Amino acid sequence: AKKQGKNRLFWFEPSMEFELKFRGELEAGIRRGLKNGEFIPYYEQQIDLDTGELVGFEMLARWQSPELGLVGPDIFIPISEEIGAIEELSRKLMIQALEHAKMWHPRITLSVNVSPIQLRDPWFAQKLLKLLVEHNFPASRLEIEITESSLHENIGMVRSTITSLRNQGIRVSLDDFGTGYSSLAQLRSLPFDRLKIDRSFVRELKHSGAGGKLVSAIISMGADLELPVTAEGIENDFILASLRKLGRLKGQGYHYGRPEPAEQVTKRLADLNML
Ligand code: C2E
Ligand code: CA
Ligand code: CA
Ligand code: CA
Repeated sequence: AKKQGKNRLFWFEPSMEFELKFRGELEAGIRRGLKNGEFIPYYEQQIDLDTGELVGFEMLARWQSPELGLVGPDIFIPISEEIGAIEELSRKLMIQALEHAKMWHPRITLSVNVSPIQLRDPWFAQKLLKLLVEHNFPASRLEIEITESSLHENIGMVRSTITSLRNQGIRVSLDDFGTGYSSLAQLRSLPFDRLKIDRSFVRELKHSGAGGKLVSAIISMGADLELPVTAEGIENDFILASLRKLGRLKGQGYHYGRPEPAEQVTKRLADLNML
């Protein structure tokens, strides 16, 4: 906006002031929220598309703000990263999630997203393992999701972190696959356990025809890399049916329900005899 010339400055300044004030309030709200335990895990079902069986949950962070209501991670994760609060936030969420998931059937896995900032910490894997031991949670039930875009910095460190996680029995997925422009050679050099196709590709399936080509190309890349694939963003029966024709996949999306708090997960699992 600055580039648009002097006469716009008048309009520019007040709105920036407003934004800075709002931003400042968000930062203060996040810090307060961390102290007051306002950050809580929600969970999204992960389904074996072949059998329709519920196989796990992905933890998705929510902020139950007294002023703003339920706030999504796209708002508070980037700010938490910038103000140096992401490690504390992630730790608090992880502890809650481990305590929740401990109550679930041992076959049900827990997937957790990690920030690229956390991956810069050479002790990330060790700290996580310590948490698992403290909370008596088996590493084999935990899956860590690393976004493709976080591979762009410090690939050496990311590789050694993935290796340490896997040596401890934690599985590692490549999240938002297809959006990060990684080369196949690079992906082949990283020991992932699974690919998660970004929902921007899956969404294309609803137009039938051409949309499917991209998704099937990604699924065959998964086959080339010898990795199982999860499709995210399954919103309806048509997308589900199209995906089932393309291969043996896991999937998640609003078709199976919105992300839900732990109490609803408990009810769901009780109904399935999976507690
Ligand atoms: P993600 O890991 O790609 O998670 C999937 C996002 O898609 C979630 O949004 C989920 O609610 C949404 N979604 C699921 N199914 C559907 C569908 O069928 N249609 C549509 N339109 N959307 C669907 P959410 O919860 O807002 O999370 C956004 C992103 O925030 C996540 O993307 C993840 O990258 C990040 N995130 C969430 N929780 C955490 C966390 O604890 N730590 C970190 N570092 N990042 C997190
Ligand atoms: Ca994810
Ligand atoms: Ca994703
Ligand atoms: Ca995403």
